[in-house]
Parts: sequence; structure tokens; C-alpha cells
Amino acid sequence: RPNISCKPQNGAIYSGPDDNWGNGSGTNLETACVDTLFGVQTEWKMLGEWLGRNGINGSGGGFPASVGLNQVNAYWDGSSTTFGHSQDNQRQATSMDVVAHEFGHAIFQTTPGGAGSGNENGGLNESTGDIFGAITEHYANNAKDTPDYEVGEGVNLVGQGPIRYMYQPSKISGNPNCYSSSIPSTEVHAAAGP
Ligand SMILES: [Zn+2]
Repeated sequence: RPNISCKPQNGAIYSGPDDNWGNGSGTNLETACVDTLFGVQTEWKMLGEWLGRNGINGSGGGFPASVGLNQVNAYWDGSSTTFGHSQDNQRQATSMDVVAHEFGHAIFQTTPGGAGSGNENGGLNESTGDIFGAITEHYANNAKDTPDYEVGEGVNLVGQGPIRYMYQPSKISGNPNCYSSSIPSTEVHAAAGP
């Protein structure tokens, strides 16, 4: 898939002579790339089969990914995705919904109307990530990661389960369930729920 690749941060794209990659451990970065590539390739297939979109960028292309960020975080920087780890450092933040969320920012950026500024636009950007994360999970319908409307439940980022609940955002303290005049000044991940 054009322009899709995965590497450790500050390292080279993984390569090898056979089709054995990683060891399945939550602390193994080659395994994190296996998860990342499975996630983004599944998202790519979903986009084509369910939405008629050609690739992540809509014109047959994708973007590179890096793993091993030494932060309890993951992000899209405008041209690539980067994935860190859980607070207890036992799992990489490369579950399918998190990977599809970060590449969802790429979808947002490469879709008319996606570019913009302010927290309301930022909330739409974050919700686009969460929505594409959820529908990619539903497309995969994996018995080991059953489809849901929770964000990051598999990563358990800070030891408290999902980081967001799409079906009831207020399950995270302080996150609003409904739109209000304060959304344009609400933190973007919290604004994503409404
Ligand atoms: Zn995001």
C-alpha cells in the first residue's frame, strides 16, 4: 500500500528475509509495527469497501508510522503517525482503534472541509479519529478485540480502561455529552464526544 511503512522512532523501516515479525509481546517494537500495519491496512480496506474511498488520503496513498515514542501518547503530525506506550510501559499504544484514530486525522486533513482552526474544528478532527477507530474495529470484527464504542480499551493507557466513551462521553469526568456554546473553547478530545 503506497507510502505505508513502519519503523522504530529514530530507526530504519523494519526489514527481514522471512515473514516472521516480532514476538507478540507488548514491549516488542517490531510487534508494535505488526499491530500498526494490521490496523492501517484494515482501515484502508474498510475505506474502500464501505465508503468508496481510495486509500487513507483519498487518492491511493497513505502515510508512514513510527513506534516506540517514549511517551504515554500517540499523535498525527501532519505527515506521519507516531505511537507511544501505556503508563505502565507494558503495552504499545498500537491497538486497532488507536492506529485508525491517528490515521483518521490523515483522513480528516485530506478531506474537503477538514482543514481549519479552533477547538470546534479540533473537536471534529478528534471525533473523526474516534469514529474511524470504531468503524475499523467493526470492519475487522476480531474476536480478540470485539467492536465497541470505547477508545483505547485494549491499550489501557493510564490503567483506567478506555480513554473515551463515545456512547456516553461523561463516563470520563469533565467530558460533556452534549453540544453547548462552550464547545468552541473545550479541549479538543473532550469536544469530540458531542
Ligand atoms: Zn487524535
